Amino acid sequence: MVNTSKLFPLFGLCPFPTQSSTMNAQTRNPRSKTRKKPSSYGASRRSALKKTFTQEQVTFTAPLSPDPLVVIIGGGISGLLCASFLEQRGVRSTVFDTGVHGLGGRLGTRVVDRNSLVFDHAAQFFTVNDSRFAELVHDWIDKGLVSEWKGPIGELQSGGNFVPFPSSPPRYIATHGMRSLADSLLAQARMVNVVRPCWVSKLEPFNGMWHLSENGKPCGQFDAIVIAHNGKCANRLLMTSGLPLIAKQMKRLELSSIWALLAAFEDPLPFWDATEVPFEGAFVRGVDSLSWMANNTKKLQNSHNGGPHCWTFLSTAAYGKQNKVPQENIPAATSSRVTAEMLESVEAALGLSKGSLPKLSYTRLQLWGAALPTNTPRIPCIFDPFGRAGICGDWLLGSNIESAVLSGIALANHIADYFQSTGADPAEFAVGLNQEFQPLEGHDIGQFPGLRSDDKIDEAQLYELAK
Ligand SMILES: Cc1cc2nc3c(=O)[nH]c(=O)nc-3n(C[C@H](O)[C@H](O)[C@H](O)COP(=O)(O)OP(=O)(O)OC[C@H]3O[C@@H](n4cnc5c(N)ncnc54)[C@H](O)[C@@H]3O)c2cc1C
Repeated sequence: MVNTSKLFPLFGLCPFPTQSSTMNAQTRNPRSKTRKKPSSYGASRRSALKKTFTQEQVTFTAPLSPDPLVVIIGGGISGLLCASFLEQRGVRSTVFDTGVHGLGGRLGTRVVDRNSLVFDHAAQFFTVNDSRFAELVHDWIDKGLVSEWKGPIGELQSGGNFVPFPSSPPRYIATHGMRSLADSLLAQARMVNVVRPCWVSKLEPFNGMWHLSENGKPCGQFDAIVIAHNGKCANRLLMTSGLPLIAKQMKRLELSSIWALLAAFEDPLPFWDATEVPFEGAFVRGVDSLSWMANNTKKLQNSHNGGPHCWTFLSTAAYGKQNKVPQENIPAATSSRVTAEMLESVEAALGLSKGSLPKLSYTRLQLWGAALPTNTPRIPCIFDPFGRAGICGDWLLGSNIESAVLSGIALANHIADYFQSTGADPAEFAVGLNQEFQPLEGHDIGQFPGLRSDDKIDEAQLYELAK
C-alpha cells in the first residue's frame, strides 16, 4: 500500500480517504445509496459537483505490469498521437472513440454526395512552432497527408476591407480534409487497437485493473487510462471514477461554443468590388456573428472543377454563447434564425447588399457546444500515478492542433516512463494535479503562432512549456 503521508505534500491537498483498487467500485461510496433524489435541476447539479469532489481516491497497489495495456478514451488528435508514441515506446493501447464516420473529433470533415461537397467543419488550418511538431508535419507532408495552404488568407474588416497575411510562417492543411489525417495516423500501427463507434460510459477500478463499459456492455480491462477528451462527457465519466484529482482539474476547464455553417453556393462568392472574393480564408472582424470564413473547394481541391463552391463559416464565441442550445437537439427555429443571421453577416463582411449572395445548393448548421478551451493549466499533461490515469488534450497547453499533439506525445512518454519504473515511488510521477489555470488568448477558432507578429512572444513561451 502506498504511504499516503508521502502523497499529500506532493499533491498539496487536504488528505482524502484512499481506497484500494481491489475493492468493488460499487462499494466505494455507500452514502450514495442512501442519498435522497434531488428535487430540482439546481440541486442535482450541486450534488453532482459534490460527488465529483468528495469521491474517494482509488489507489492501485498491484505491481506494474511489464507488458501494460493502456486505454485511450478519445480518438481526437491528442489521443491518436498518444497511442502512436506509446507504440514507439513499446506500450500497447486501445483507443475508443465515439466517431461514427471516422476518428478525429474536432478534426472534422463533412463529406456530402460522395465527395462532391467537402467541408472542414471544425479545425481549419494550423501553423507550426515546436520543432517536434515540425518533424511530424514534415513526415505527414512526405506521406501526402498534409500540404501547405498557399491561397491568400488574412483579416477581413466588415464592409469588405481585406488585408492579407504575409505568406510566412507557412499554413498547413490536411490534404484531403482534417478527418482523413486523423484516420491515417494509426494506419501502420501494430500495437494499437481502435474501437469505434464506442462511447465509454463507465470506468471501474477492480482487482488492480481499470474495467470499462459502454452502457453496461464491458469494453475490456486495462492497466492505465488516458482521458483524451473533455467537456461534459469527461466530467460525467470522472464523477464517480475514483479519480477526484483528475476530475477536479477537468472541471476547472472552461470551453467556448461556436456555430459552424456549411454552405455550398452555385456560383463564386462575389466581393463588393469584384466578381469573386480575393481570399480563400479570412478572420472576420467587426461582425457580431462571424469570426472565420473559408473556401473549402479552393482549399482542399486547389483548383475548381466547375461544381458547387463550398464555404465554412464559423461564428464568434460571443455569438455561440448568446445563442447556445443543446447541440444534439437544435430547435428548428434557432437553426433557421442562426443560419439567416450568419449569412447576413457574410454579406456585411464582404461589403455586399442584403440578398446578393449566390443561390445556395446545400446548407448545414452545427453547434460545437464544447468548441475551444478558454483557460489552461499550461502543462503538457496530467497524470495521477496512484489511480494510474492521465489526461491529454489541446486545453492543457493551448487551443490548437499543435497543443493537442504535444500533449498526446508528452503523456505517452510519461506513461511509458512510469511503466518502465520500478513502481517503488509512484509519487514522483504525479504531474499537474494541482496546477492553477490561466486564461487563454487567441482567435475564436484557436491559436496560430506567428501568423501575425503580435502573436509571437506569448506563443513562444507557451511552447517552451511543452519541453
Ligand atoms: C470550430 C472549431 C474550429 C477550430 N479551428 C482550428 C484551427 O483552425 N486550427 C487549429 O489548430 N485548431 C482549431 N480548432 C481546435 C482543434 O480542433 C483542437 O485543438 C483539436 O482538434 C483538439 O484535439 P483533442 O484530441 O484534444 O480533442 P478532440 O478532437 O475533441 O477529441 C476528443 C475525442 O474523444 C471522443 N470522446 C468523447 N467522449 C468519449 C467517450 N466517453 N468515449 C469515447 N470517445 C469519446 C470525441 O468524440 C472526440 O472524437 C478548432 C476547433 C473548433 C471546435
